[in-house]
Amino acid sequence: MKTDILIVGSGCSALYAALNLPRDKEILLITKRDLETNDSHLAQGGMCVLKDESDYESYFEDTMKAGHYENDPVSVEIMIRTSQRVLKDLEAVGAEFARNPDGTLDYTREGGHSGHRIVYHEDITGKEITSHLLAAVKKLKNVTMVEYTKLIDIIEKDNVCYGAVIRKSEETRVTRGGEELTLTEAGFNTETLEKIEADVTILATGGIGGLYRHSTNFRHLTGDALAISINHGIELKDINYVQIHPTTFYSECEEDRSFLISESVRGEGALLYDKNMNRFVNELIPRDLLTAEIRKKMAEEGTKHVWEDMRPLGDQELREHFPNIFAHCEEKGYDPSKQCIPVVPAQHYFMGGIKVNHESKTSMNRLYAVGETANNGVHGRNRLASNSLLESMVFALRAAMDIIKDYSAGVYGSVNLESGINCESELRRKIIDDVNLSVYADDDAITKKYRELVMEEIQKADSAASDFKDEEEYARIKKEKEEAKVKVKGRNEKASE
Ligand SMILES: Cc1cc2nc3c(=O)[nH]c(=O)nc-3n(C[C@H](O)[C@H](O)[C@H](O)COP(=O)(O)OP(=O)(O)OC[C@H]3O[C@@H](n4cnc5c(N)ncnc54)[C@H](O)[C@@H]3O)c2cc1C
Repeated sequence: MKTDILIVGSGCSALYAALNLPRDKEILLITKRDLETNDSHLAQGGMCVLKDESDYESYFEDTMKAGHYENDPVSVEIMIRTSQRVLKDLEAVGAEFARNPDGTLDYTREGGHSGHRIVYHEDITGKEITSHLLAAVKKLKNVTMVEYTKLIDIIEKDNVCYGAVIRKSEETRVTRGGEELTLTEAGFNTETLEKIEADVTILATGGIGGLYRHSTNFRHLTGDALAISINHGIELKDINYVQIHPTTFYSECEEDRSFLISESVRGEGALLYDKNMNRFVNELIPRDLLTAEIRKKMAEEGTKHVWEDMRPLGDQELREHFPNIFAHCEEKGYDPSKQCIPVVPAQHYFMGGIKVNHESKTSMNRLYAVGETANNGVHGRNRLASNSLLESMVFALRAAMDIIKDYSAGVYGSVNLESGINCESELRRKIIDDVNLSVYADDDAITKKYRELVMEEIQKADSAASDFKDEEEYARIKKEKEEAKVKVKGRNEKASE
């Protein structure tokens, strides 16, 4: 099957890329489960924005500080300067954020933030954003969406990506412009495996939580694009930078996806206690430091969890601002307005990923990576809370803009003017035809191999890395980054286009 642009994933990064790509290009969007089952729908706390110029310096500094100054300052600047554009686009597709009685946006605050700069929708911000993006993409006649269909490999020659190999399933469902199509009507074959020929491919496959026993992520997010990248020599970056969320609801059941007790609950005043119900830590320090403190306490006391006290927020605030969290606690037998709840750290976010430039281009031609699977340097060693929805969309937009630029420059086709034959597509056809699908027959073996590949790479990077850098090293990195920041000031306007 042939398409212009292949997008893998249906989270906020995939959808926002699709919305920003030209309507005259055919887009094929595939996703491993249904369209709604992704981490973007789970985001609770909110999305950071630059609310006004006076907050720029401290937003920048908070992001760099949380990332231990290992962030790419240009990427951070691009993200912050593009935040208002993303917010306006989201409102344009119908997403609503909490407002004050006077109609202005109500900003909340989370750990690591020195001020209130996070827009939110109750405690289901991700669902509010992603469901409106999805509704907008569903209306597009140029986007074919394919559920329960997964990427199993890319098709590549000489470091150029020409498309992908996908695996359909019995549940595969195809829709375009809101209408359901049969596989044949949509131009697919009826086999399980299929080769997709594409001018350009965007990987938006999300995080890696499914590789861990305790994670807040959906279980099917297993870093498939990372395994494929390893196999094809595509550059990765900081693959061992994995964020653990300090406070998830403690459950005895090992199969449960860990339920997150949002950072903003602590931002609004919730406290953490040890087994004797004594406070032992500043609840608003960055996540990695807080996780370390909680683990230390649990080891000292030989406990499986610590306690979170949400009572300081008051019954009304808890029910209005955090209805989902409230309901989950009640479901588990706790009334958070009257009693403390048990919380424990769990894998939550992946800062590392497929290395990309400021336009989200990977080290392979015609291949982009956006969202949590990509590493554009925004987060450094540790993500600042509520920066990831924003970062995912900002850099999905950058990918779309770059692809538009390349189409305009004629990068995706070279026609021989004398013969009128498109030489590029002839070559591409041959490369696709040469792919032998029988090597992908055993799904279980590939799945197992991919999981092992990613975990081995993470462990390799972990053992190669020295532990946290000392104070002197951080001071040096901070100075270097600040010098770089001064140099990028001039790019502000370009970044906020
Ligand atoms: C519980 C929770 C709360 C969070 N809260 C916040 C918050 O308040 N603020 C914030 O900024 N961030 C938050 N985050 C992080 C944020 O939600 C994610 O980083 C972001 O949504 C990632 O978006 P994405 O598009 O990269 O990936 P996702 O939304 O996870 O989408 C990945 C997609 O890729 C598909 N996929 C994966 N592998 C394949 C394959 N092989 N073939 C085909 N499809 C595939 C999946 O089916 C899915 O559709 C939270 C995350 C979690 C888990």
